[in-house]
Amino acid sequence: MTTPGEVTTAEPMAPEQHPMSRFLREDRMPHIWCSSCGLGTTLTCFIMAVVESGIDPKDMAVISGIGCTGRVAGYLNFDSFHTTHGRAIPFATGLALANPDLRVVVYSGDGDLVAIGGNHFIHAARRNMDILCVCVNNFTYGMTGGQAGPTTPITAKATTAPYGSYEYPFNIPYLAVASGANYVARWTALHMRRLKNSFREAINKKGFRVIEIISPCPTAFARKNRLGTGLDVLKYYHANSIIQHGADPKDADIEMGGKIIVGKFLDVDRPCYRDYVTESISRQLGGK
Ligand code: SF4
Repeated sequence: MTTPGEVTTAEPMAPEQHPMSRFLREDRMPHIWCSSCGLGTTLTCFIMAVVESGIDPKDMAVISGIGCTGRVAGYLNFDSFHTTHGRAIPFATGLALANPDLRVVVYSGDGDLVAIGGNHFIHAARRNMDILCVCVNNFTYGMTGGQAGPTTPITAKATTAPYGSYEYPFNIPYLAVASGANYVARWTALHMRRLKNSFREAINKKGFRVIEIISPCPTAFARKNRLGTGLDVLKYYHANSIIQHGADPKDADIEMGGKIIVGKFLDVDRPCYRDYVTESISRQLGGK
């Protein structure tokens, strides 16, 4: 017998159980995600990567902010916390500093992470905090009805931009690299195997790691921009994604109807914030 929220991954799986069900809080189902939304696919890839990484989910914590992606913290049967809007990174920072043995994952959306929480994002990267930051980018605020956000491409329509958005959007890989992250990759929800591999690689690294996932939002973004169903959007990704590991993130802007550069932009091993602090304090206490 388990209680909601209790991690049960160490327990043997009943033969009739779905392989994913032990990683999910089934008492929270059915989920709220729309049909053909890309979010479920990203979560499947994440769970597969955790299994392959060999890390016990009891040694992980997943933090989300507000929005459709923010539901991940509630659905995963890991230690998790659903914070207020934009505050997933500060909460995760405290967790990572208090318990360095914990693998801390922030799993949130573009509005939460680079608009409301944008300042936290750049400063966590600057400090090279020991956090894996997963940003599902669907170019809009889906949960609240499709407003323009910090990643909405120029000319794309939104409920708050009926004639098109004319603010320059953030290029998330460029922002993350420029701010000081250790690992930066981008995939779409179509690239399941590559996304899973990237998750697995990033889970096993230290420092601030950013994985951006371009994901269909058929209900808000695609409908407003006449892009069709979630499947149509995946077909668009298939036709227009260019896998280019090591690309200059400056070239990774996303434009309406344009190509999407995906792949691993950066993978370095700079010491993270806690490494510096621990080393410095022990040196000073040791009088060296
Ligand atoms: Fe997904 Fe968009 Fe629906 Fe939110 S509103 S669940 S992002 S399709």
